[in-house]
Amino acid sequence: MKTKAPDHGHRGHAHDVDLEDTFDFLNTDDTENGFPVDKLPTLDDALAWFVDRGVIHVEGANRVRAQMSNNDPLMARDLARVHAVRSALREVAHSIAEERAPDTGALETVNRALHARQVIELVPGPDGCYVDHRHVGDPVDDALARLADPLVMELTAGHPERIKVCASDTCEWIFYDASRTSRRRWCDMATCGNRAKAARHRMKLHA
Ligand SMILES: [Zn+2]
Repeated sequence: MKTKAPDHGHRGHAHDVDLEDTFDFLNTDDTENGFPVDKLPTLDDALAWFVDRGVIHVEGANRVRAQMSNNDPLMARDLARVHAVRSALREVAHSIAEERAPDTGALETVNRALHARQVIELVPGPDGCYVDHRHVGDPVDDALARLADPLVMELTAGHPERIKVCASDTCEWIFYDASRTSRRRWCDMATCGNRAKAARHRMKLHA
């Protein structure tokens, strides 16, 4: 399912992501019926997902693939990095939703990811000046920094109180609560909300 995230408008340079992409990334660490299901189980899956969301250029992804071909430890290291940043971002989202301090290790991981981002610079255009970016670092670091960015934006100038974790303990979906009253508890009323209601009903019957 898709979360509805706010539109921060045009931000000047190509392949920007929004909060919806960030949450989709976090929710690739999925839970189905209480069991963990990783939607990005291999580095290749992660690279394909990054290309699909526009946080990495096809050439960047291919460069990573070429560097990694037949090098299992390198591949494992990069995949571990993707998973580590993802779970650190999940912890940060949880801490915001639960109004508590985040785990310090998770925060360090997120901050390290943020520092690895591309360099923004001004470039001349025929009718003025434009903002462009330069890829200085590793494409995977770059992609992770870009996926962390909307969460920072939301904390800076958005509605962090609308960042929520689905109240169903077999779901844990992270979503943006765009409802008028900001009191949504489930990622989706049709699935998790109804399941919770049915469970309450069953409890009442057996009480
Ligand atoms: Zn849910």
